[in-house]
Amino acid sequence: MVTNTLEEFPVFPALLPRVPCRGARCPRCGHRYSKDQGACPHCSDLSDGELGAKREEWADQREAGRRFGWFLMMLAAVFLGVVIVLLVAM
Ligand SMILES: [Zn+2]
Repeated sequence: MVTNTLEEFPVFPALLPRVPCRGARCPRCGHRYSKDQGACPHCSDLSDGELGAKREEWADQREAGRRFGWFLMMLAAVFLGVVIVLLVAM
């Protein structure tokens, strides 16, 4: 779970710095969870084989998030370029 400290501003979450949740890091899956939850909610009900499959899924999700972040940056760069060209042309 990723939260940000600027939740009152409607900004794309992908553009905000990532602030990890406070809590224990699970030694088995590496995710963080609140200590008052007792067992890790991400992997405590998974077998080792299921955990391996889940890890790949999580890696894919992280990669997809990175690609989306790059897509937004490129979109912003193109938009900025168009604005500059229009301003120069006027
Ligand atoms: Zn875990």
